[in-house]
Amino acid sequence: MTRCRACTSERLKLFLSLGDHPPANAFVSEDRLRCPEVTFPLDGYVCLRCGLIQVGNVIPADFFREYVYVPSASETMHDHFSRLATFIQETLATSPEQLVVDIGANDGLFLTKLADRGIRAVGIEPAHNLTAIARSRGVEVVNEYFTSEVAADVRRRFGPAHVIVTTNTFNHIDDLHAFMRGVLTLLADEGTFVVEVPQAIHLVQQNEFDTVYHEHLSEFSVMSLVRLFDAFEMRIVDVVPLPVHGGSMRVFARRRGEDSDDSPAVADSLREETRAGLFDAATYDAFGARVAAIRQELLAMLDRLRGEGRRIAGYGAPAKGNTLLNYYGIGPDRLLYLADRNPIKHGLYSPGMHIPVVPVERVQEDPPDYLLILAWNFADEIVAQQAEFHRRGGRFIVPIPEPRILG
Ligand code: ZN
Repeated sequence: MTRCRACTSERLKLFLSLGDHPPANAFVSEDRLRCPEVTFPLDGYVCLRCGLIQVGNVIPADFFREYVYVPSASETMHDHFSRLATFIQETLATSPEQLVVDIGANDGLFLTKLADRGIRAVGIEPAHNLTAIARSRGVEVVNEYFTSEVAADVRRRFGPAHVIVTTNTFNHIDDLHAFMRGVLTLLADEGTFVVEVPQAIHLVQQNEFDTVYHEHLSEFSVMSLVRLFDAFEMRIVDVVPLPVHGGSMRVFARRRGEDSDDSPAVADSLREETRAGLFDAATYDAFGARVAAIRQELLAMLDRLRGEGRRIAGYGAPAKGNTLLNYYGIGPDRLLYLADRNPIKHGLYSPGMHIPVVPVERVQEDPPDYLLILAWNFADEIVAQQAEFHRRGGRFIVPIPEPRILG
């Protein structure tokens, strides 16, 4: 990697070398357990000019034609998308003929929330399996990667988009500049581009190294989006912090018009990023040292509990869990199973470490003493769902920002 994906600067620093990993969502079926897995180096870089944290190693795009992450498995995401749909209806797409386009529509959860409110909406989604799920819910989805050509085609068929929304997708895009050309093609002149992405400042401050995986090519700072949008004559009109995915932001951008005063929220964010050292090499050296220290601590904790005869299982089989398990070398000798609500993953094994993924009912049927919460961004939701496990004496381990036992 020689140039920043957002601002094209060459001031890149390699700060996280996680070794060779299979793609974090490449769960393995039983009959393929003995076959060698395809692995790719996983290296985290930061651009010291704009603070974009980026993975240098791009895996082939066709990997995403079948996809296993679905937001519908999480109650938190249902609420999240309901609120976003209401917000759009009240502020951005206030009349029913205005079109909303969701790029990276996944299983159509957000599209259904828009449809419930009578908002005209189209999704664009490359994964075949997710498109089929979304269409079965009665929403309109174009089954393609988002490109300028697809943007032009959608505009021809449905008209210009008054609002383009992309949630937790922009961070998966290798060629951000090509994506932005597509946005400009599709967006109405007065339209708003809404981007939701995890935020670099949280990754750095909360030690969220496990959110670095091949599919998450970028972790955005506000500065990186300012610089990227600037190259396309767009400006950020607002930045709103969000609690999802370990600390995200919702950014609103429009074409630069005459009234191009900078948003005070942007200035505040940029000051905060400077204060947090997001553009300083030393910040990332310290981060690397903390990631190594967490490894020592977590392995010592798990091994001490196992030495006391405790049984430990994982809760959640998210992509980031696989970065953590593979990098820290936590396998089936340490975790009995990974309990996950997403039925697409049941019966499969985690990539690399080959821990079996089972339905969450297994926690009642075969209760461990400890649950290591790998989906730590949903820790509150998980602890609430597993109140019965806790009542019977079960305990939770949260690995990030530092390993700790709850309750
Ligand atoms: Zn940059």
